[in-house]
Amino acid sequence: MKYIRFQKDNQIYYGVVKGNSITQLDGDYITGETRPLSTEFALDEVEVLTPVEPRQVLCIGLNYEAHAEETGKPIPEEPMMFMASPSAVTAHGTEITLPNLDHRIDYEAELVIVIGKEAKEVKKEEALSFIFGYTVGNDVSNRHLQKKDGQFTRAKSFAGFKPLGPVIETDLDPNNASIKLKLNGEVKQESNTNDLIHTIEDLVVKATEVMTLSPGDVIYTGTPSGVGPLSPGDVVEAEVGGIGVLKNHVISK
Ligand code: MG
Repeated sequence: MKYIRFQKDNQIYYGVVKGNSITQLDGDYITGETRPLSTEFALDEVEVLTPVEPRQVLCIGLNYEAHAEETGKPIPEEPMMFMASPSAVTAHGTEITLPNLDHRIDYEAELVIVIGKEAKEVKKEEALSFIFGYTVGNDVSNRHLQKKDGQFTRAKSFAGFKPLGPVIETDLDPNNASIKLKLNGEVKQESNTNDLIHTIEDLVVKATEVMTLSPGDVIYTGTPSGVGPLSPGDVVEAEVGGIGVLKNHVISK
């Protein structure tokens, strides 16, 4: 099932997408059981919103071997975790603003976990049952500040640096999904989540050893190799097979 949050005529709706059609739901799919209503919308006539408004945005670094290699960093024995500000989250179709053209600012296509129920000290065999579904993310990163600060909060948290969407897919094998990023139509990243060093289950286990995750919280699971810089005027498309394409335009401040 593909869940979507969207806006039409200044009103926010929740729905399920099939082809170009959205069936409206009677409430927020993250907070409880929902039922379909009889109202239908055309997908191309609504404004797509982020599928969730997370309270916590957890990110995993260096979770594909080839990406760890391209950054010159050793492969982490345990998932390398950092947080980004929820205020950086932005929807499919919005603009990514580059705050400083002297800084290198990179795209990073990622599979994103959406938590479905309160998760604390989760066991591996139960990990998938705490997940509502999966969406696509772009972990936009200011490399200059990442290096300068020695930690990632500032580099990863500018407004618009965490595109998310367009939908949440609930029927997906998260450990075997194709992942791709196109910059101005050219493929720059191409891999599969079966190359993840730490699996989806491992990430939920390790994260919830530390913090309690709530419905709607998200985990960016790491990016494959092929990261590179964004420039004003670019069109960046992150794609996970079975979910969809997350497309954003890049502008300067
Ligand atoms: Mg990343």
